[in-house]
Amino acid sequence: MSFSVEFIAVGTELLLGQIVNTNASWIGSRLADAGLAHYRQAVVGDNLDRVVEAIRAAGARADVVILSGGLGPTRDDLTREAMAVAASVELQRDEDYAVRLRAYWEQRGREMPESNLKQADQPAGAIPLENPKGTAPGLRLDMGDTVLFAVPGVPAELHPMFDNYVMPALRDLAGGGDAVMVSRLIRTWGESESMVGEILDDLFDSSDNPTLAFLASAGEIKVRLTARATTAAAAEDLIAPIEAEVRNRLGSRVFGSDGDTIEEVIYALLRVRGWSLGTAESATGGMIAARLTAVPGCSDTFRGSIVAYQEDIKVGMLGVAAATIADHGVVSEPVALEMAAGAASALGVDVAVAITGSAGPDPQDKPIGTMVLAVRTPEGSHVRTLHLPGDRERVRTYTTTSALHHLRLALQGAL
Ligand code: ATP
Ligand code: MG
Repeated sequence: MSFSVEFIAVGTELLLGQIVNTNASWIGSRLADAGLAHYRQAVVGDNLDRVVEAIRAAGARADVVILSGGLGPTRDDLTREAMAVAASVELQRDEDYAVRLRAYWEQRGREMPESNLKQADQPAGAIPLENPKGTAPGLRLDMGDTVLFAVPGVPAELHPMFDNYVMPALRDLAGGGDAVMVSRLIRTWGESESMVGEILDDLFDSSDNPTLAFLASAGEIKVRLTARATTAAAAEDLIAPIEAEVRNRLGSRVFGSDGDTIEEVIYALLRVRGWSLGTAESATGGMIAARLTAVPGCSDTFRGSIVAYQEDIKVGMLGVAAATIADHGVVSEPVALEMAAGAASALGVDVAVAITGSAGPDPQDKPIGTMVLAVRTPEGSHVRTLHLPGDRERVRTYTTTSALHHLRLALQGAL
């Protein structure tokens, strides 16, 4: 059997639907991105016997079992204990860690409840994993041939710990001791999965090392290359020529690799030119601005947005001519272009993105799903009319992503 990973989320709150198991989807996509086989997940309440049973069952099938949650100091936090029972080892106090916990509380001028020391108890033989955002450390423990990892339930703590400790270890373990696994994600937008598949069909057929896979999510198609070799550098060498070929064939559909996001790519392109950015949004109501302002440190480039929902706002604040609306309708390419020009001057920006559209459920000027986007840069203006299926939210979300990618293409001179 080939190398595989299972995930167990621990917590009664998850079973009761009080919290959503986002750790499962986050870890699932991380494992998929890395090309690691992952066939099962489980959710178990805070009950020692059931957690032990789940660990043993998963361990009998998979090479690695990852647990999240139940590492805190309260009575219902029993993941540490369950790992010890499952692996038939004792719990031992890590005195160094106990000292650090006490110091942590003292530093904050507070008395530490003794129950907190529970966080310093570890199954014998476990290796603690540093938690940069909290006090509960993670754990790595061998259970026979299976390796167990435990990470805290809090996503903000789990994410860096998974990336810093669990993922590198998984790559080593998947390599089987004498090989490492390296994967590269090539991120594309603007083409269907089937079309990307056809463009790369012969590469897919002949791919063995590296292997090639397609992953689709939220309109984005990712091409994953995974190579095995004795060193990471040798695996990179196997990936390089295929990656170059994939990029060459897909051209401007490729917008980034690995963890790149479209927002970061846009800011990098704008910064090279020293251009500032703003938006004028009707049907998307600021959704593009929300995506762009979610990026930390964007204030050197992003200046602002005008949500120009009603016609008189488009005219009054963006300087769209009433005659343009009368002649072409409010959902039209001339109006989108005038909105972008108006935003550039009203916001004092070099680059402006504008949206006007009919998102439904009631038609607005044009049939539902007609969305017009304009991008204005100092080098020229571009406008596109999209005809989108789906309900209001889907239309608005797709338009937002589409506008970001058209902006990127305009900045790359690829429109
Ligand atoms: P703590 O030290 O905070 O107690 P913990 O490792 O013991 O952390 P839990 O007590 O199980 O983790 O969960 C703490 C919080 O983490 C939960 O209230 C919830 O907000 C979040 N959380 C736990 N499990 C998940 C999960 N599977 N997906 C998303 N969030 C989760
Ligand atoms: Mg807890």
